[in-house]
Amino acid sequence: NAKEKGKNNFQFFSDDMAFIASRKIALENELRRAIAKEEFILHYQPQIQAATGDIIGMEALIRWQTPAGKTISPGEFIPLAEETRLILPMGEWVLSTACKQAKLWHDSGYSQLKLAVNLSPLQFLDDELMSMIRQTLEKTGFPASSLELEITEGVAVDDAEKAISRMQKLRRLGVRIAIDDFGTGYSSLNYLKRFPLNHLKIAQPFVQDMASNPYDRALVEAMIFIAHSLDMSVVAEGVETEEQLALLKKLGCDEIQGYYYSRPLTADKFTHLLANGLHSVRSI
Ligand code: C2E
Ligand code: MG
Ligand code: MG
Ligand code: MG
Repeated sequence: NAKEKGKNNFQFFSDDMAFIASRKIALENELRRAIAKEEFILHYQPQIQAATGDIIGMEALIRWQTPAGKTISPGEFIPLAEETRLILPMGEWVLSTACKQAKLWHDSGYSQLKLAVNLSPLQFLDDELMSMIRQTLEKTGFPASSLELEITEGVAVDDAEKAISRMQKLRRLGVRIAIDDFGTGYSSLNYLKRFPLNHLKIAQPFVQDMASNPYDRALVEAMIFIAHSLDMSVVAEGVETEEQLALLKKLGCDEIQGYYYSRPLTADKFTHLLANGLHSVRSI
């Protein structure tokens, strides 16, 4: 009967939950171990000036390389790292490693490159953030003016005033701020006006559908217009095709990031790219 069935369902459901919970604990322990053993690496994806085709910077993107040789993408562990606050030591490692590497590139003749680093909402709102960034810049010698921090609209969900004051502090430190994945969260135009932002990154879904869907194209055009009206420059991410690139250029998008130019690369491959040009990594 139904009651019996419901009971069975519940049984099944709770086993499932126990399984998920134990997997989560196992993964959390794995994460802790991976942090201690430094099993993370950064890849760097070039950002290209739309008008000139020049490489003007790179975004650092974390990957987890397990001892078994598997590469795990951030989508699979960043949410748990956030939930367990392990994102804090991990994020410190990311910033320090990326600044050290970018400083090497600056010193080898590419001093115009800017470095973009992602901050999760927990990191962004952490009380130690300002001193962590200050110390990292000092320790690595990387200039604040070349650092860009990418945050998402999620940072303002709980306390918009705190988020705004945090952004202002970061700007006073001399770093730039980009709003990532724009258009996918609870975008309030009122916040957008009040956030001291330098860059707006249009989220991938809009870019990927703009060539086939006139509504996406209209939204991309509107986002570029709004960003420029508020003195922000626009980065399109997830650009994969010539057609998307041509449209974005036509609409006045400032910077391009995506597989069309290059996938995220290891530091060694990025060094090779700087010396040999984009054609050396195109279509890999
Ligand atoms: P994101 O910051 O929006 O980064 C862009 C993502 O899009 C990256 O995925 C990148 O590899 C991917 N991508 C770039 N171009 C293309 C393209 O043309 N086509 C497609 N399909 N994808 C493209 P990834 O590296 O897997 O990172 C996913 C997300 O994980 C990032 O999204 C970011 O939110 C987060 N993340 C990555 N590294 C870090 C980190 O060091 N700290 C924190 N807090 N979050 C990170
Ligand atoms: Mg990003
Ligand atoms: Mg993004
Ligand atoms: Mg993101």
